[in-house]
Amino acid sequence: MRRLKFVHLSVVVLFSTASFAAEELVVYSARNEQLIKPLFDAYTTETGTAIRFITDKEGPLLERLKAEGKNTPADMLITVDAGNLWLAAKEGVLAKVNSKVLKANIPAYLRDPDNRWFGLSVRARTIVYSTARVKPADLSTYEALGAAQWNGRLCLRTSKKVYNQSLVAMLIARHGEAKTEKIVKSWVANLATDVFPDDTKLMEAILAGQCDVGIVNTYYFGRLEKKQPGLPLALYWPNQKDRGVHVNVSGAGITAHAKHRAASVKFLEWLASKKAQNLFADENMEYPANPKVKPHTSVAAWGVFKQDTINVSKAGSLQAQAVMLMDRAGYK
Ligand code: FE
Repeated sequence: MRRLKFVHLSVVVLFSTASFAAEELVVYSARNEQLIKPLFDAYTTETGTAIRFITDKEGPLLERLKAEGKNTPADMLITVDAGNLWLAAKEGVLAKVNSKVLKANIPAYLRDPDNRWFGLSVRARTIVYSTARVKPADLSTYEALGAAQWNGRLCLRTSKKVYNQSLVAMLIARHGEAKTEKIVKSWVANLATDVFPDDTKLMEAILAGQCDVGIVNTYYFGRLEKKQPGLPLALYWPNQKDRGVHVNVSGAGITAHAKHRAASVKFLEWLASKKAQNLFADENMEYPANPKVKPHTSVAAWGVFKQDTINVSKAGSLQAQAVMLMDRAGYK
């Protein structure tokens, strides 16, 4: 009996080793190792599928995929911002994936209408304010940050960052170019100081008293809050009476020349599943893209809010217009 059991066990081991070798996936990731490695390890433990990956900035990864063409070893691209995912799809490096599982788990506004990429976590770009100098009742919408009461009190990150290009692209989608240009000009007129290279420096400027309000991705607030518990800053959810808070995604697509397409689709479906969604979102204090999954308690503590459900692909298709508009408006 004992012996039989032993034989059975070695067959299982042999079998899983074989499938292990056959199903090694290669991922190119613009999310850094610290954010994705725990996720890959969990998948390997669960399925035996090994995942090799390289990390780099989104630009070089896209160039690499284009240069490698048919010879690319990459099965999947993971990157941040719908603008970047949209560009990768436009450049032809991503394949269409028709998956009932993905459609059921990821809301339509968080994925490519042509199914070449899928949002896996949601990042909210919202208003941050000094709790010492601003009352939440003073705030209402992104547009209202251009009002006279914020003159010399507003801080913004550079327009060179894709996050702000996506935000302005969404404003164009909602208001058209002429009105959006007026809004952006009114922000620029209210700036307390030069634009910042990142969201963290912007919040530090509010803490230092240089300005009172700004626009940031919530996970940067989360990181700062972790370092400085009880800091005199808070998040505000604008446009709750109309379209909702501007959200973007980090997400993934299967490459056009994937060598392990079926296994990659399985992995992508797993990433959208209840099991993986917290692993994907929580590491960076983002929101799960799958609405059936709750955010981490520290993220949930910032409150419940209505999201703008315009398709995030607009961030890409209107990006060039947004960049030109910000330039015209004098937003550096
Ligand atoms: Fe970021």
